[in-house]
Amino acid sequence: MSTPLHSWGRYPAAPQSAQACHWREGLAADLDGIVRTQGSTLPYGNGRSYGDSCLAASDRVLHMRTLDRFIRVDWQQGLVLAEAGVTLAEILALAIPRGWFLPVTPGTQYATLGGAIGNDVHGKNHHVRGTFGNHVLRFGLLRHGQELLSCSLAEHPELFAATIGGLGLTGVIAWAEIRLIPIRSSQIDRSVVRFGELGEFFALSAELDHRHEYSVAWIDCLARGRQAGRGVFIVGDHARYGRLEVDERSRLQVPLTPPVSLINNLSLRAFNAAYWRVHPGRRTAARVGYAPFFYPLDRLLHWNRIYGRRGFQQYQCVLPDAVAEVALRELLDAIAVSGQGSFLAVLKRCGAIASPGLLSFPLPGASLALDFPQQADLERLFARLDAIVHEAGGRLYPAKDAHMSAADFRRAYPAWERLEALRDPVLNSRFWKRVTT
Ligand SMILES: Cc1cc2nc3c(=O)[nH]c(=O)nc-3n(C[C@H](O)[C@H](O)[C@H](O)COP(=O)(O)OP(=O)(O)OC[C@H]3O[C@@H](n4cnc5c(N)ncnc54)[C@H](O)[C@@H]3O)c2cc1C
Repeated sequence: MSTPLHSWGRYPAAPQSAQACHWREGLAADLDGIVRTQGSTLPYGNGRSYGDSCLAASDRVLHMRTLDRFIRVDWQQGLVLAEAGVTLAEILALAIPRGWFLPVTPGTQYATLGGAIGNDVHGKNHHVRGTFGNHVLRFGLLRHGQELLSCSLAEHPELFAATIGGLGLTGVIAWAEIRLIPIRSSQIDRSVVRFGELGEFFALSAELDHRHEYSVAWIDCLARGRQAGRGVFIVGDHARYGRLEVDERSRLQVPLTPPVSLINNLSLRAFNAAYWRVHPGRRTAARVGYAPFFYPLDRLLHWNRIYGRRGFQQYQCVLPDAVAEVALRELLDAIAVSGQGSFLAVLKRCGAIASPGLLSFPLPGASLALDFPQQADLERLFARLDAIVHEAGGRLYPAKDAHMSAADFRRAYPAWERLEALRDPVLNSRFWKRVTT
């Protein structure tokens, strides 16, 4: 019996048994095998989704991480065709020395190609490149009892759109082809400046976003009063010259899961305040490696274990531009009053580039993401935050979610019924069951 799989937040506690898929040729039989015994399943990439969207309604997943071969690469054009279980780190390891980089990357390089499509992930450059789905040329999709379909904007366009951000429900992606972006160096020219309150964040964003490929801010969500919304604004661009080196530094790891969370309000308050203070008030520039810039958390393997056996939830919402500042103030106020803080909260602007995906998360506006240790009174805080997001016309990110109500989901993602109509009936997740039935 293999070790049970979980989602990244380890909440809800719903251990998944897994059927690993090793060969594309065997995928149809693997899928059929689970369907015969369990009735339904869900493709599972590398479990970097926080909530229950990567957990099967039947608690038996089709584990795709082991389907991890490169099929064809074209280093003239920057095209990569690979099996769905290949991770973004594995793509970077081949692409960087040849002068190519991912067009869009989330904050972890351990997501798989299939998972990046399933959630239509976004990165620090949404304002200039859109989502991952904007760079997918085509993929092979297996639906139960059918031949593998090649899907693109031209072939089976409805399934192409429904699968990008389709939460693994429209079929199993066997392989995908993406277009990379050219780089001259693996390093990033990064500028950092801290800001004293939320209004300054929006001013910096208006001034700097359009001049840089990458833009993100970390905020101290426990600061109150005039300091509410203080934080650190970071922009970056691929350096114009320098080495093309894959980051191979050794990783540290959290060896085991403590019985209780090591994160508490005292440690959070001290950490957030120190992080803010350590950054300079004036703008400073430095050349840094791509890994510390994009993937600071990946340095500590299994960092999710520090939240203890009860796990944690991430709350990520996006708020439309017109009301973003007002709604963010309300959210931060509600969080500070509750005293339930998060390690650095991530705030970033989303741009207007539309995704081909039906259920893609970003909207033109601002996205806020915070981690909370799982505890009884989280429900009350989330209800308050949900009301603010709802009122603002924003929405939550299914990749991070473990609590959204069915009513909020249906209002925020009106295209859900089109996805439901195209869902492969043998694929279902705990998330989908929770928000649609
Ligand atoms: C530290 C950290 C930082 C992150 N930062 C960001 C960020 O900046 N932006 C962002 O958008 N996300 C971010 N995420 C979330 C993460 O990028 C997504 O949840 C991503 O989808 C995880 O990929 P995975 O391979 O682990 O897929 P899983 O989590 O296993 O699955 C994700 C979804 O894809 C489906 N799926 C997986 N494989 C296949 C397949 N072969 N065929 C069909 N469907 C499939 C699953 O059914 C599921 O619905 C972050 C996560 C972590 C842990």
